[in-house]
Amino acid sequence: MKPYDVIIVGSGIAGLRAGIECRSHGLSTLILEKMNKSGGNTWLSDGGIAAPETDLQKARGIEDSIEAMKADMLNAGKGLNDEALVDTITKHAKEGYEWTKSIGVPYMDRVDIFGGHSVPRCYTPQALSGRTMIKMAEETFLEMGGVLKTKTYVSDLLSDETMSITGVKAYHPYAFNKALPEKETLYKAKKGVILTSGGFGADTTFREKQDALLDASIDTTNIASATAEVLKSAIKHGADTKDLDRISLAPWTSPDEKGFGDGPKFADYIALQRGILVDPDTSKRFTNELADRKTISNAILKVGHPVIALADTRAVKEANMNLEKALKKGVVKTFEGLKSLSENYGLDAPSLEKTVTRFNDFVWHNEDKDFAKPLDDATPIETPPYYAMRVWPKVHYTMGGLSIDASARVLKKDGTPIPGLYAAGEVTGGVHGASRLGSLGLTDCLVMGQIAAQSIISQ
Ligand SMILES: Cc1cc2nc3c(=O)[nH]c(=O)nc-3n(C[C@H](O)[C@H](O)[C@H](O)COP(=O)(O)OP(=O)(O)OC[C@H]3O[C@@H](n4cnc5c(N)ncnc54)[C@H](O)[C@@H]3O)c2cc1C
Repeated sequence: MKPYDVIIVGSGIAGLRAGIECRSHGLSTLILEKMNKSGGNTWLSDGGIAAPETDLQKARGIEDSIEAMKADMLNAGKGLNDEALVDTITKHAKEGYEWTKSIGVPYMDRVDIFGGHSVPRCYTPQALSGRTMIKMAEETFLEMGGVLKTKTYVSDLLSDETMSITGVKAYHPYAFNKALPEKETLYKAKKGVILTSGGFGADTTFREKQDALLDASIDTTNIASATAEVLKSAIKHGADTKDLDRISLAPWTSPDEKGFGDGPKFADYIALQRGILVDPDTSKRFTNELADRKTISNAILKVGHPVIALADTRAVKEANMNLEKALKKGVVKTFEGLKSLSENYGLDAPSLEKTVTRFNDFVWHNEDKDFAKPLDDATPIETPPYYAMRVWPKVHYTMGGLSIDASARVLKKDGTPIPGLYAAGEVTGGVHGASRLGSLGLTDCLVMGQIAAQSIISQ
């Protein structure tokens, strides 16, 4: 088979972004994808991106900077982040966001603040999904003459006598979770292989090895194809890894539905930003609802049972999110009063009244004396009907992965790059450290996907 200049493993946004950059410099580029369609976790995601100093922020008078975003990432990362990677991502984040607009992703006229960001800087596509980004990027890649081969499972990397990576071994046609076809195909790359195979949140065996608490009993928001075989193959070829045991749980998912579901539209976009989380045993708050994900998830796990996310009608209206599906499923429920809400979830109504009154007082004075939650977007909880949801964390994002440098070159244990091997997106480690902030996953993919391609182009 004729060799390609570049082979990319995985067709999420990191892979497609890298592919488009390669094609724009005339490199023959093949993307291999094991599923029957492109997109991975990007397709499943809300499609939210974070960037500083954007048009939407300026229109609202939100002051932000590259330095402020960097400080937030390092703070959530608890010093485990590779600062060079954080510098690269924050510096190019706005470019990444602008690029998605240039390929035709329309954004809602809103700017959200998710836990751990010090100012609102998260942008949500109109479809509230990463699908538009994948569709537009795939169309662009194919129009530019890129080749995308789906149902092709990459099982290993190929190397030469100098241990340089020269291609991949793959199987086609592959059907997910079925036995591999008998005969493999070897795909050769003249200039480089870019790994963009995503995280391993759905790989219960591999993830339990990294963190024994995260066994198969813990659900995940991830697509079933988020598994670790490509990562393992890179390790076999000498790649070093970073922070594999740093796996974040989503603190806004419901135990009353499978996977990501529809509850996060309420818990993440409304209750955590504008309302409160309450432990049903004490009817009290127990955390800053706008802390980073890891902190909130840990606080919920410490409580030891599902907690209640609560907001009122004004918060729901102001957040302007469509909760129809979540309400229809019964994952989110409405209540005419705090008494009926308490009866439904087993809370003590007078204690909940006290919690809500105390929180409302904090909102009026714009100061949370209990947990220091930023209250700029919060609303007093006083307008019925009240909205509530049970919350229990699910595995959401794997911060750890392949060690890379700021040129997206995959590194060996001695810190030198493996010739011919690059990686970007959730398969890598070091960007987010201990905890990834909301909407920064896609920013990471867009920036590092482009840089991986540029590194090959400039060699
Ligand atoms: C429900 C959900 C919501 C999210 N919402 C957001 C959000 O709003 N904003 C944000 O920033 N982040 C969000 N994230 C995180 C973000 O979506 C991911 O981190 C990001 O999409 C990862 O992109 P990627 O290109 O690295 O990998 P992916 O998009 O996961 O793509 C990897 C691809 O590689 C393929 N692949 C894997 N192994 C092989 C193999 N052996 N052979 C061939 N192909 C292979 C997979 O099938 C997949 O298609 C969300 C995640 C989830 C699960």
